[in-house]
Amino acid sequence: MIAVEITNAEERLVELIQLQVLYDRLQAVRQRQGDLPDQIEKLQDKASGLQKRIRELESQIQQLESDIRALHISNDNLRDLEQKLLRALNQARGEQILQLQNEHQETVLTIQKNIRDIGRMQQKVEGYKKVLAEESEKLREIQQAIAEKQTRLQDIQEETEQQMQVLLTRIQALSAHLHQVDPRLFTLFERRRRALREGKALVPVLSLANLAKATPSRPKVDGLTPDPSSSARIVCSGCYILLPSQLQIELAKHNKLYVCESCGRFLVDAELFTSVRDSMP
Ligand SMILES: [Zn+2]
Repeated sequence: MIAVEITNAEERLVELIQLQVLYDRLQAVRQRQGDLPDQIEKLQDKASGLQKRIRELESQIQQLESDIRALHISNDNLRDLEQKLLRALNQARGEQILQLQNEHQETVLTIQKNIRDIGRMQQKVEGYKKVLAEESEKLREIQQAIAEKQTRLQDIQEETEQQMQVLLTRIQALSAHLHQVDPRLFTLFERRRRALREGKALVPVLSLANLAKATPSRPKVDGLTPDPSSSARIVCSGCYILLPSQLQIELAKHNKLYVCESCGRFLVDAELFTSVRDSMP
């Protein structure tokens, strides 16, 4: 087994356990926020997508309505023209009649075409307005969900802010002390804490029997099926690899810091870990 030689071993072991416990508590407090920040971000992305779509629809509707208005105005003018042409026809003579009739016919056709175009555009507007109403409703629901989640997150943050401050202050003080008494050890701890999942730099070993009780969903450890008779066997509670039985005897001496060869975490005696943790305020 890899071991780190340390002076005043028992004292340092206790301090490292204390530091790890404080970090574990900090992690637990942070986890209370869960994935709320993530959920809020995803909803905000969705909302801004909808907002963009709504703006596009609104501008399409606006454009169509303006085109419809223009066609109405055009038809008003064409109707005036039609009346004028009819009046002119009444007084027309010879070739003029044919020309005026053609012009009148063309005007009427244009008016009819405009009416059909207006109808088509109005249908489009109706369709867009329906989609717009649906999208706006979706946006409203998402914005409401965002507001609710933000309130919940804020509540949790207010509740946990003080706890985090207290923990951070204690972590700072203990870190400063460790850094002073054994900078090499402190650096080794910090390096692991930053690199390893959930900042677990140091973990207690676990007896196989306890592991079976604690995690019934994990029936196999390195191919072994745990049973109470194998209680002498221990595993790393960071990566669950089976450790040499001799290590338990070594760990109980509290005179060295052992390293899990599989995950690199510092390993400590379970009993020491529990008693230190339970004696902490
Ligand atoms: Zn391990």
